[in-house]
Amino acid sequence: LAGIVILILIVIIAPLTMANSANLLNVGSSLQGPSLHHWLGTDELGRDLLARLLVGTRSSLELALGAVGISLVLGIPLGTLSAMTRGPSRRILLRGIDVLLAFPALIIAIYVGAVVGPGEWGPVLGVGIAGSIGFARLSSNLAISVRNAEYVQAARVIGVRPFKILVRHVLPNIIETLIIATTVSISIAIITISGLSYLGLGVQPPYFDWGTLLTDGVNNINQIPLSAVAPSVAIALSAMIFGFFGEALARALNPLLSQTRGSSKRGRALSLEMIGAVPSQTLDLEFEDTRDSLLEAEPELAVIEALANPDNSVPTARRESRRSRRASASLPRLDETSEGLTASGDVLELEVLDLSISFPGRHGPVDIVSNVSFSMKIGERLGIVGESGSGKSMTAFGISQLVPYPGRPRGRVIVRGQDLDRISSRDLPRFLSQQMAIVFQDPMSSLNPALTIGRQMTETVTEYGKMKHGEAMKLAAERLAEVQLPSPQKQLHRRSHELSGGMRQRVAIAMALMNEPKLLIADEPTTALDVTVQAQIMDLLYAINSERHVSIILISHNLGLVKENCDRVLVMYAGKIVEDIAASQLDSPQHPYTRLLLGAVPDVTRPRDEPLIDIPGQVPDPEARIVGCSFRERCPSAIAQCATETPPLEPLEDGSRVACWVAIRERSSV
Ligand code: SF4
Repeated sequence: LAGIVILILIVIIAPLTMANSANLLNVGSSLQGPSLHHWLGTDELGRDLLARLLVGTRSSLELALGAVGISLVLGIPLGTLSAMTRGPSRRILLRGIDVLLAFPALIIAIYVGAVVGPGEWGPVLGVGIAGSIGFARLSSNLAISVRNAEYVQAARVIGVRPFKILVRHVLPNIIETLIIATTVSISIAIITISGLSYLGLGVQPPYFDWGTLLTDGVNNINQIPLSAVAPSVAIALSAMIFGFFGEALARALNPLLSQTRGSSKRGRALSLEMIGAVPSQTLDLEFEDTRDSLLEAEPELAVIEALANPDNSVPTARRESRRSRRASASLPRLDETSEGLTASGDVLELEVLDLSISFPGRHGPVDIVSNVSFSMKIGERLGIVGESGSGKSMTAFGISQLVPYPGRPRGRVIVRGQDLDRISSRDLPRFLSQQMAIVFQDPMSSLNPALTIGRQMTETVTEYGKMKHGEAMKLAAERLAEVQLPSPQKQLHRRSHELSGGMRQRVAIAMALMNEPKLLIADEPTTALDVTVQAQIMDLLYAINSERHVSIILISHNLGLVKENCDRVLVMYAGKIVEDIAASQLDSPQHPYTRLLLGAVPDVTRPRDEPLIDIPGQVPDPEARIVGCSFRERCPSAIAQCATETPPLEPLEDGSRVACWVAIRERSSV
């Protein structure tokens, strides 16, 4: 920082005080060595070299800053745009940047400089355009890594618009690297522009910068060695100063790094809350209020509610009515010919029909999720279990329209009677934001480290102008209290790194509740937490379901957890549902894979000498073209038919479904 201050002072003071000495011709004292009058000596026209070096600082830095400014203005929008677009246009933009990046920056700078001609503009434009390609690649790489982060996925589910995602989530998380890159670019620009001036493509007399001084100095190096050394040192020193400045700036801007400078008092207070010394607030769920106002505001929802809960009388609207009316006023109308109904005509929460998701493979598209079909009732808790790679999370992405590129979803998703394919792409984010929310596995990565909790939570309701900021902050504090987070007001001003894992997951759940979703998808919400916090989070989800009637999809690899907390369970293997069974029937599952999963669940009632079951083998490679049952290699019950025919997901009399030849045979023979 001291170096930057010194450079700024030189830039301001030197032209005011030393311009005369720098330009005054005195042929009588040409090419003099260092003396008390001329510390660095004089050039061939008798001008003071030190004065010229200091006065030339301004033009050198101005040109470098101008070039980097052009790089930023061209490069960052191009890079972030290419990262935020989807499909082929993204690939075309990225490949275009790659092609340009293949040309050496110096050659581009010299070429543009030569085309523009000698003078200040040539090197500025040349270096600026050459640098913009690097910035475009850097910012696209950074933006792509951030846009796949869970907090961005969650923001997309709640309907935050792409531009806002870019400004609020992507840019703040890449700015630190871009700042460092900018300062490094200034260093490079100083060197490159000086080099172009040295080659005669830059500043022309009577103007001068360090590059022209270096040219003169090299010409006179035999008489006055310092005349070449001094501009070289100035160029190298200023480049180093900008490099160090970038690092210092990034450190100051990074909340994680600056945390080490936080007061110990604050840290102690936080620790007390984390260990539970501060009493927690009571769970104050306002389901009645919220539902009443939704009913009042949205006649279609009243129909849904009446169908789903025929015994409920319509209660009076309370203080949340205005807020909820705003939130639900823009819901698309239910399609009159919509599907998504139960046999008795009740509206289903969700109906998934033949959902398949494919990705490009070595030999063509590969289905990661294959023909998944299921439905869930309003208020139901549905578990999806399976090992890693079974397709359960990708199924959730398919439902929430978050399939990452280049994945291609097929099939239909019907949410509360509304086929998502029949909603325009303009209305879809808003519709989804009012219907569902998603909570991810890792609470650290599902919150944006660059934003305060309050800022992140409120964007879900301030989007589309539904709520003013103050009102939204009040609601956010209420939601934090509902998930039993201590001192909710205080938490709103904290960032995710200031909270413990359990607190972060509570914040993620509170954030998911901001828009009062009807369906909450919890993707391994407790995997990253310790056992006691896991239990608290599951209790919280249970309370949200039972008191708010929010339907829940709980995705987990732990069949024991799902069995305890869900009404129904879908068991997935190799991208397919292999069993759909009521949780109450899980003591006698039909599919061998479900039996093995159950055997692998630790159970305190199990005899101590009975070992946990280890499922042999692994989930098959999705690219493997398997004939017959995909579980065959690992199945202890396999029969000959399993090797030749793929078992269908067959409905059984008790309402469950199973995809297993042996189970189907046994059931049909009963
Ligand atoms: S179909 Fe055959 S291989 Fe597949 S789970 Fe059933 S018994 Fe096992």
